[in-house]
Amino acid sequence: MYTSTDFAKLQQWIARTSDSDVHSVLNKKKADIHDLAALLSPAADKFLPQMAAHSSRITQQRFGRTTQIYAPLYLSNLCTNRCAYCGFSADNTIPRRKLTIDEAEAEARILSERGFQHILLVTGEAPKAVGVDYLEELALRLRDRFAALSIEVQPLEQNEYRRLFKAGITAVAVYQETYDRSIYDQVHLSGKKCDFDYRLDTPARAAAAGMREIGIGALLGLSDWRAEGLALALHLEWLRKHFWQTSFTVSFPRLRPAAGDFEPLVLVSERNLSQLIFALRIFDHDVGLILSTREESRFRDGMVGLGPTRYSAGSCTAPGGYSNPELEGEQFSVGDHRSINEVSNALIAKGFDPVYKDWDKEFQVESL
Ligand code: SF4
Repeated sequence: MYTSTDFAKLQQWIARTSDSDVHSVLNKKKADIHDLAALLSPAADKFLPQMAAHSSRITQQRFGRTTQIYAPLYLSNLCTNRCAYCGFSADNTIPRRKLTIDEAEAEARILSERGFQHILLVTGEAPKAVGVDYLEELALRLRDRFAALSIEVQPLEQNEYRRLFKAGITAVAVYQETYDRSIYDQVHLSGKKCDFDYRLDTPARAAAAGMREIGIGALLGLSDWRAEGLALALHLEWLRKHFWQTSFTVSFPRLRPAAGDFEPLVLVSERNLSQLIFALRIFDHDVGLILSTREESRFRDGMVGLGPTRYSAGSCTAPGGYSNPELEGEQFSVGDHRSINEVSNALIAKGFDPVYKDWDKEFQVESL
């Protein structure tokens, strides 16, 4: 079982960095966790252009001039948890809905017709209403239409992930939100999500169940982003050691306006986010880095090829929102409103290939 390092210790570790530490890391071929602490430090800020160049070189060596494209499909905004920062929090008065299997399939058809081959099925956390039976039935309906199905739903048990894997789900995203336990307790007000350690152990359960890819992440705006980056990397390093067959992605969603009007506890600028992405890439050459439509088009276009490897596009965060764009009840407002074609054209204009498919269900091994 993974146990996280004390957050204050991570902050102290990062604060010890000098300019010469950063300089020597940028001359190394491979960065270790100590080097990452240096790259996340305030001292590294003035080296941002060199970090961008280094990160870009590694990214293009490992991934070529490509960016994967996916879309989220929101199935339900029902949630039994109260998270202070989220539009779906149980105490927010928003129109609540759960798509029927037929409605979810109709939304998926729209995404398929728009050209998406990889979709991320997203729900709030209401396991009685939107449980494994529902997800399994939907996956069995969708698996022949898409090359890859991922989920971002409530943490599940290993046998439940196994059932979903057999039904055609190959990837799981589960973000810790913050690795700072005191802030975690402060913003998770009630519900099962209050259990920090159960959530922290979820990526390992999903990997042990045989999932092909696991996504971890931190919601930026809750605590010190530098220490979040180091905590995430330690978690990633542990997961890589224990599940070497699994692919990993990391996401750094920044807080966006949502119902409930939660104000970020910490401001994280685009410059800060860039430093975090470059540092992670220099530390782990193979991890997938996701930049979602939470970020604005200007920033996403500027980051192409510098570190991120996967972009969402044409996203709607309200269940049923692809069939009916007027629907309310979104999780947060998006920053990049462009369609899949517009995002793809922007990538092509920069000399990059948008990749809609990097997996096929035929590759899936049914039994471990
Ligand atoms: S973050 Fe997740 S668990 Fe928390 S309120 Fe939002 S949907 Fe529910």
